[in-house]
Amino acid sequence: MADWTKSFWMVVPPITGKVEAPKDGGIAVIGSGLSGASVAYWLLENGLDDVTILDFEQEKAATYRNCGHILYGTVESMMALTALHGEQVAREIWGYSIDICHEVRDTIKRLNMDADYRQDGYMVIAIDDVEDKEIKDSIELLHRNGFDSRYVPKAEVEAMGFKNVRGARYEPGSAHAHPVKFRNGLIQNALDRGARYFSGVKVSSVEEVGDFVEVKSQHGTHKFDAVVIAANAYSPLLSRFFAERKLVDPFKGQIITSKPLKHQFKVKYPHSFDHGYEYALISEDNRLMIGGWRNNTPGGEIGTYDVVPNPTVEKGLQDFVQHHYDIKEKIEWEFSWAGIMAASKTGFPFIGPTTSPRVYTCAGYTGHGFSWAHGSAKLLADIMMGNPIPAVAKYFNPKT
Ligand SMILES: Cc1cc2nc3c(=O)[nH]c(=O)nc-3n(C[C@H](O)[C@H](O)[C@H](O)COP(=O)(O)OP(=O)(O)OC[C@H]3O[C@@H](n4cnc5c(N)ncnc54)[C@H](O)[C@@H]3O)c2cc1C
Repeated sequence: MADWTKSFWMVVPPITGKVEAPKDGGIAVIGSGLSGASVAYWLLENGLDDVTILDFEQEKAATYRNCGHILYGTVESMMALTALHGEQVAREIWGYSIDICHEVRDTIKRLNMDADYRQDGYMVIAIDDVEDKEIKDSIELLHRNGFDSRYVPKAEVEAMGFKNVRGARYEPGSAHAHPVKFRNGLIQNALDRGARYFSGVKVSSVEEVGDFVEVKSQHGTHKFDAVVIAANAYSPLLSRFFAERKLVDPFKGQIITSKPLKHQFKVKYPHSFDHGYEYALISEDNRLMIGGWRNNTPGGEIGTYDVVPNPTVEKGLQDFVQHHYDIKEKIEWEFSWAGIMAASKTGFPFIGPTTSPRVYTCAGYTGHGFSWAHGSAKLLADIMMGNPIPAVAKYFNPKT
């Protein structure tokens, strides 16, 4: 396997900031992944002009290590979401998740960005009868609440090139894009509008002191008027607010990617299996990219910040492909990498002010961070600017 420090996406190098001590003043955004880049973008879009982005070991960010899916919904099926939170909350969250997916599309269009964006749907494939039933129940709930989705019978799923499967749920509105290109586009836009960007700044604490927020790093103490914590899984390592409330738990996700294949994939758009525990995409150059399988390991890869791939998971993913994809040619695996996501205590992201009115956060996406990071950042900017906000924002209050 190739160098695990680089994902397939990182062949496009992420833009980095100046490696020096940051300047004080204005609003600091801690994190330069999809969240931090999006927060900076939305703040500048709202007319603010004194924005500083800080990051540390940015190459480890989940933003460069995901599967590129931009999906309607959350990590839970509509059935599970309804069972956990009730039908009305599930409807509100599902509706909002669609809006934020479209927000990614609209930003790409607005900035005329080349981010390999395609809106060609998403398929949730059942691998046993229990999941097949959950899919059918979810479709019924989605239809009842006015959302589009269709059941794909087993024979049709098999004809699309899968084996040992049951039926599936196809939903046409989801999309996929190149996460590094999208994030770079946002960062470049922020830099063009005068944002300052400093890399290699290891933030160790964020505390409001008097009329400022003090941010401590290896360079000393930096004073800002306000700070946004946009470090997702890493937030508890630099914020007492996150650590004390145990708002998020880190967990490790892992992906392998083949060399370009001759095999003609009928499903190239995002698809997943086994309640989303395995997820896949076909790259623009016809590689199979598949991640997941952590649920089969002892402990489920929860509570770690170690981004070295686990060989057991690598092998599990390769065997999963043999078992579920009808591919005749020999697959050579070229990339293997891991990244750290944040499991949220409430199942929803935390967007808004913390107990300190000058310290805000935008984090906790439990696996679905592409659209949620960008949409959450827009909502956070609206909260900070006093713009109208949707009613659904009440579910994302970091102080609850
Ligand atoms: C294997 C895998 C597959 C995934 N697949 C998908 C998918 O297909 N679709 C989807 O929607 N989501 C997916 N996700 C989740 C998604 O990638 C994340 O939710 C999203 O990237 C979070 O972005 P972020 O900017 O909040 O956090 P990150 O990208 O993790 O960025 C964290 C930022 O915090 C900074 N930071 C950390 N510590 C410090 C510190 N001490 N001081 C200063 N800065 C610091 C880092 O430099 C970095 O910039 C996947 C994640 C993984 C790991």
